[in-house]
Amino acid sequence: MSWEDHVVQYRRELHRIPELGFQEHQTREYLWNRLKGLGLESTAVGETGLYADLPGNRPGKVVGVRADMDGLPLSEETGLSFSSEHAGVMHACGHDAHMAIVLGLAERLAQDRDFPGTVRILFQPAEERPPGGALKLIEAGALDGVDEVYGLHVWANLPVGSAGLRAGPMMANADQFTIRIKGVGGHGSQPQATKDAVLIAAQIVVNLQTIISRRVPPFEPAVVTCGTIHGGHTFNIIAETAELTGTVRTFSNACQSLIVEEMQRIAERTAALYDATAELTYEKGYPALINHEGEVAAWEEKLRGLVEIERVEPDMGGEDFAYYLQHKPGAFLFLGCAPPDGQVAPHHSPHFILDERVLPLGVEVLRRAIMPN
Ligand code: MN
Repeated sequence: MSWEDHVVQYRRELHRIPELGFQEHQTREYLWNRLKGLGLESTAVGETGLYADLPGNRPGKVVGVRADMDGLPLSEETGLSFSSEHAGVMHACGHDAHMAIVLGLAERLAQDRDFPGTVRILFQPAEERPPGGALKLIEAGALDGVDEVYGLHVWANLPVGSAGLRAGPMMANADQFTIRIKGVGGHGSQPQATKDAVLIAAQIVVNLQTIISRRVPPFEPAVVTCGTIHGGHTFNIIAETAELTGTVRTFSNACQSLIVEEMQRIAERTAALYDATAELTYEKGYPALINHEGEVAAWEEKLRGLVEIERVEPDMGGEDFAYYLQHKPGAFLFLGCAPPDGQVAPHHSPHFILDERVLPLGVEVLRRAIMPN
């Protein structure tokens, strides 16, 4: 079989054995053995990460290529013949494709080693949830000596043959928050004796919406989402406590700080208006992913004729590839993988599928990143 066939086989084999972040034991063993089969010695990082060097036949740069390894807590409903064999876990974001593409790249390059420098293969656990696996690899020295680093994400919003790339901000600061409201509970018929936490929570949700509409400058992209609201016991009891959780997405640190300050003020003062208290807990997640201008321009040039480059808008999602780009020059790209026949298959859905033509294309997209002009 050719590497083109192998890359499809790798993806299907990995698709069967999805594992959650930092539990990718079987996945690592698979990757480790495949790399070994190519004559590569891997270095373990923690329980489930690894990296390996693939030297070319002449001097040159050390270029990192990264694939994330984790699946999601979903029960697959695609009906694919190679569906997940792990109950309640699914590769529903395409990380199986990322691993297969990087393995396929290693296989292709290992055939004749006809490239300069060294390719540092980075298999990183746990992209889906902060704190993520990227920092673990970096702390373990996986970026030591690396000159540039590249990554890609298969992207269901783009057709096969298209790629999304932009210099500068590409993905957002992705933070989460909790607001705990404490009032005084009581009988549903005796509101005068209570401080209703459900009412206060509702007011806070509404007031938080004014941060984007009235505090953040109109041209600054930002999102404040309240994802959950929990409080109360039953219909005739006024709730003593309530809890909101949500996410904040921004690109600049200034905007992030502004939103934290405003959230704090709105939560505390709205609760105070009703003589209750509210406490904000704000947890910063992955930093914004900022693509490096020079590497984007060079990669784009090398991709000419292979894929159609779309000048995509920044995506408000988070991605821990951001950490690599805080340490080394490089770029991250969205590679179109929309399923054929217009089937709808959003990322993180139990129906997520991709067009496997993206797999050999992905190998070539990364190969061009590591080849000099
Ligand atoms: Mn993903």
